[in-house]
Amino acid sequence: KLHNQLEDTKGNIRVFCRCRPQSKQETLTGWSTVVDFDAASNGELGVLNSGSTKKTFRFDRVFTPNDNQVDVFAHASPLVTSVLDGYNVCIFAYGQTGTGKTFTMEGIEGNRGVNYRTLEELFKIAKERVDTFTYDISVSVLEVYNEQIRDLLATPSSTSKKLEIKQASEGFHNVPGLVEAKVENIKEVWNVLQAGSSARVVGSNNVNEHSSRSHCMLSIMVKAKNLITNECTKSKLWLVDLAGSERVAKTDAQGERLKEAQNINRSLSALGDVISALANKSSHIPYRNSKLTHLLQDSLGGDSKTLMFVQISPSEHDLSETLSSLNFATRVR
Ligand code: ADP
Ligand code: MG
Repeated sequence: KLHNQLEDTKGNIRVFCRCRPQSKQETLTGWSTVVDFDAASNGELGVLNSGSTKKTFRFDRVFTPNDNQVDVFAHASPLVTSVLDGYNVCIFAYGQTGTGKTFTMEGIEGNRGVNYRTLEELFKIAKERVDTFTYDISVSVLEVYNEQIRDLLATPSSTSKKLEIKQASEGFHNVPGLVEAKVENIKEVWNVLQAGSSARVVGSNNVNEHSSRSHCMLSIMVKAKNLITNECTKSKLWLVDLAGSERVAKTDAQGERLKEAQNINRSLSALGDVISALANKSSHIPYRNSKLTHLLQDSLGGDSKTLMFVQISPSEHDLSETLSSLNFATRVR
């Protein structure tokens, strides 16, 4: 059903909103919730502003705190089929730190998210099509921090080289030197994802802080060969857990912290600019304004399909960040 929606004339950008449950701490502290889901089934979300006026936002879908990983993936999985059909796809999670970006993309132990489920689905469909297609699937895991690309699958000896984005002759943008791990089954994928996560930890003294300030990006390259026509196609899927979108007060940030904040602001606004330029069918799409958008270029725009999760908190104390994320998401829609 979603697949058909994605084929319609509205373009290829979809926005899903997902609200996390209140944490135990928030409930104990007595924070009230400011989000209502009365019309969630119509893709509408109500946010109670201070002064208790209600602002309504519309999305392609709204997931409430009761919706689980399976519900969420059920609506993202048509895009996975699109990848095997030769489309470039980008799925990313946007939002304030602590709103569930990593929960949606990576998931947690025993409750995996979009990344793992996507690869599982890719292998499942590939298997169903074994009589007509052969698929060659490889995975890269990288991080963009302070406008620098870090290969999370690189062996220690190769990590020092500076990674840059190049446009290959057949049109694809790639990063020469980046490790592309060929994967044959979901077990190998799991090992690759684990290797990526543990590499992320190396060299950062506070893992959570570091991961909220860098973009974690999974790139999946699918080469398909039609065994009947011998036609070959290549498509790319990006799965991105973005850096936290929260504004850092100028007075709180100095030195390295200020630089990080500026780079995050710059790349997230570049992403917003690219998507709204695409939505407005603008003649110039400013991909080159950040490493993030430059990397994603093949999977944003053209006939590629984009899905954004805007992640929010239900709590009163996060209201201003929630409104800012919802406004960002509305702007790109
Ligand atoms: P972010 O990556 O945006 O900083 P996390 O994914 O780390 O946020 O989520 C913050 C906390 O909230 C984690 O403990 C996570 O497990 C929990 N959480 C987020 N979304 C959900 C959800 N939909 N259901 C249950 N727990 C969630
Ligand atoms: Mg996170």
